Amino acid sequence: MTQLIDGVKVKADILSELKNQVAELPGKPGLAVILVGDNPASKAYIGMKKKACDDLGIQSFEFLLPKTASESELMGVIDACNENPEVNGILLQMPLPKGFDEQKMLDRISPDKDVDGFHPVNVGKLLIGLETFKSCTPYGVAHLMQAHNIETEGKHVVIIGRSNIVGKPMAAILVQNELGANATVTICHSRTKNLTSITKQADIIIAAIGKPHFVTADMVGEGAVVIDVGINRVDDPSDPRGYKLVGDVDFDAVKGKTSAITPVPGGVGPMTIAMLMTNTVSAYQRQQSVVSQHQ
Ligand code: NAD
Repeated sequence: MTQLIDGVKVKADILSELKNQVAELPGKPGLAVILVGDNPASKAYIGMKKKACDDLGIQSFEFLLPKTASESELMGVIDACNENPEVNGILLQMPLPKGFDEQKMLDRISPDKDVDGFHPVNVGKLLIGLETFKSCTPYGVAHLMQAHNIETEGKHVVIIGRSNIVGKPMAAILVQNELGANATVTICHSRTKNLTSITKQADIIIAAIGKPHFVTADMVGEGAVVIDVGINRVDDPSDPRGYKLVGDVDFDAVKGKTSAITPVPGGVGPMTIAMLMTNTVSAYQRQQSVVSQHQ
């Protein structure tokens, strides 16, 4: 029997626990969301983040800059958020319009408020196992597996994809000597040779490639767990939107071979916002404890 991994339920559980936690706090955590330009997908994402904040009692601050804004204007907004004590977390919505140096802009965010976990200081801390903000999507994958009692200790996890926001931090999380980790991790990427021979040996496959239905049944060993991070739009004239969302895994073909699998949508996707909210509440708590240490 294949277990269907349910990100919608796990997200709801996390958010309901966070809501109780926020209600007990002496003040309100605050999240600043910065959007440059008018990319419709980015606008939809920040709308979802604002709604999650509203539902939990987290203050959200929105900064909308035109796509003609300069790097120095954006850095001015980031600096103001870094200095504002009501802002505990800062999220710079990616991608930035052409001409922006994304890494330079991310580096400007205070590591203490970097709730996306993209600042090099936090990436380094994650790698050496220090407490930090974990990048939300891989943090969500790790949480999703724990919530479904999927054992990672001693298991061979094959991650397909080496991006800085999914593949690499995913490996950094799973290789740690701690509960919910302790895996033997292989990272595969676009230059990997004999990919199928590697993925077939995996106890757990994590696909983060960005190509619809890339992982096919012949790439998966019997009884493996398959986690699909991919979100891809494919044309679908039968859908009123004219497209549907599919993952990087050929779900229908692969499902029967797996012991557990995430659907798309409804698997990993919902976890990213849940972990963003978790990181925002942690940011508030850490900043409060620093303030009280100095009183
Ligand atoms: P990316 O384009 O930055 O990285 C893709 C990776 O796939 C690269 O490291 C590349 O080496 C690897 N790759 C490409 N072709 C390959 C091949 N033929 N064989 C092996 N590896 C290959 O993408 P990303 O930002 O990591 O995102 C990956 C997917 O995850 C996308 O579909 C994206 O939409 C999705 N995503 C989902 C969430 C979420 O909230 N669920 C968050 C981030 C990304």
